[in-house]
Amino acid sequence: MVNHATGQLFFPNIKPGRFLPPEAHLPQLQRALLDWFAAHKRPLPWRASYTPYEVWISEIMLQQTRMGRGVEYFKRWMKRFPDMRSLASASEEEVLRLWEGLGYYSRARHILSAARLVMKEHKGIFPSDPAQMRALPGIGPYTAGAVASIAFGEKLPCIDANVERVISRIFDIDTPVKQEPAASKIRELALALVPEGKAREHNQAMMELGALVCGKKPRCERCPAAMFCVSRNMGIAGKRPVPGKKAAITPVVMATGVLRHNGRIFLQQRLTGGVWGNLWEFPGGRVENNEHPAGAAVREFMEETGFAVTPVRKYGIIRHGYTTYRIAMHCFELRLSELPCPQDSFPRPVRLTSASSWRWADPEAIAALPMPAPHRRLADTVFRMNRALR
Ligand code: SF4
Repeated sequence: MVNHATGQLFFPNIKPGRFLPPEAHLPQLQRALLDWFAAHKRPLPWRASYTPYEVWISEIMLQQTRMGRGVEYFKRWMKRFPDMRSLASASEEEVLRLWEGLGYYSRARHILSAARLVMKEHKGIFPSDPAQMRALPGIGPYTAGAVASIAFGEKLPCIDANVERVISRIFDIDTPVKQEPAASKIRELALALVPEGKAREHNQAMMELGALVCGKKPRCERCPAAMFCVSRNMGIAGKRPVPGKKAAITPVVMATGVLRHNGRIFLQQRLTGGVWGNLWEFPGGRVENNEHPAGAAVREFMEETGFAVTPVRKYGIIRHGYTTYRIAMHCFELRLSELPCPQDSFPRPVRLTSASSWRWADPEAIAALPMPAPHRRLADTVFRMNRALR
């Protein structure tokens, strides 16, 4: 525990025996972590050569992403963009399509802008100076620390949620980890723990320990840090880290329409900015108070495109969560209320209020366009139902 009056650690109620107070035994704790990592590290693809480009991409991809999924996306990415040059010359549309499903699309846009900047200002070579890294779009203190230490061996800590959990348990941080004074204490301890010349292995050992052993339910019997861990020795590992305030969840009810005409589907490209900026979608929006979802889909279509449409059937409700929002998207098939003349032509929208462009797309074209996850699921549902009806 931290004595907040003195800033010192103290260990009440510790049974004597196999407990070594961590701050007094940092070299032994570091050694135990390094040995454990050497024996237990997973063979992840970016660990083959630790190039700055691969470490950077993996670190951004793994934020808010499960490891299995991250590895799958990483392999696909490296196949298409094996280096900075191939990435920098790609279109934003292609980069977003490859990123589709990982969410938080600003990360993909930042990666592309950063790659172009590295080509322009650093001759295509990823900078090794953390300050120069942080001048690149999308690179904050965590990513700069991770790339600088893992790719270049700089003595810097990487503090992600896994590392916060491990440190809060080993050193028994008894206040919420994201807030002060715990956040500063964790930064200080994380830096003190990095051994000279071993930043790459140590930082990965800490993250790996949090992922494989010291997870939500700690498996202390398998832990290389057990004899140094204050929480474990006090029998309170399950009570650390101390949770902070949970953000309130906001439910959102939306209605979306799939307008079909002559074998094609109407899509619009969202305006730049926002979480789904520049992605392609089916028009729609929020269902207002007391409004029927089908009526909302018709109204939204009229407001956003000027098309008068009629509901044909309901596909279902697609549920999707991001950050603190929980979306229930009611999805409808629509047709034009009046057929254009000649009937086989594809009418232009009267206006676009939420989009920068539009198209009548066939299934092949839709497959190549980047879409937000719930809209991709809707597209897949439409094609699946179509095949079933044939
Ligand atoms: S001993 Fe238990 S609580 Fe402590 S670091 Fe290891 S797994 Fe986590």
